[in-house]
Amino acid sequence: MSILKVTRLGHPVLREVTKEISVKDLKTPTMQKFIDDMVETMKEYDGVGLAADQVFSSLQVAVLEVADNPRYPNKAQVPLTVLVNPKITPLSDEMEEDWEGCLSIPDLRGRVPRYKSVHVHALDRRGKKLDFFAHDFHARVIQHEFDHLNGKVYLDRMRDLSTLSFLQEFARYWMGK
Ligand SMILES: [Zn+2]
Repeated sequence: MSILKVTRLGHPVLREVTKEISVKDLKTPTMQKFIDDMVETMKEYDGVGLAADQVFSSLQVAVLEVADNPRYPNKAQVPLTVLVNPKITPLSDEMEEDWEGCLSIPDLRGRVPRYKSVHVHALDRRGKKLDFFAHDFHARVIQHEFDHLNGKVYLDRMRDLSTLSFLQEFARYWMGK
């Protein structure tokens, strides 16, 4: 497995709408290795999620996992999940604001409104159908990654930029708020 280079904000690939993957392409050894590399890369940088366009590949695949993560302590755990061609539907209009960061926007945090609960349809890495509900931080991570696959980043979703903070200032002035 290899650690992939992560795209940073400003690279045009982050603003593209990614392409769907056919089940046939998904099952190729190249794509399976790419997914392994995405997982490895997410873990290496302590991410809770990573979308393919964040590693220069404009395809509809995202990985996520919330374990004991130093960047996001005290969050409910989410097992390692691979989402291919995901579609999400909010379960209600209820939204919640919380802090987000992004491996493509290093060293920053900001408060982002997200739907509290979403219904997710996707394929897993073998092409099997996934159909599940996600709530709270799990739903937040999925919406963040889904946005990446549609050329959006969390800054686009902030109501205003007044909470945008570098990590050091975040720890000093905002942690726990
Ligand atoms: Zn991100």
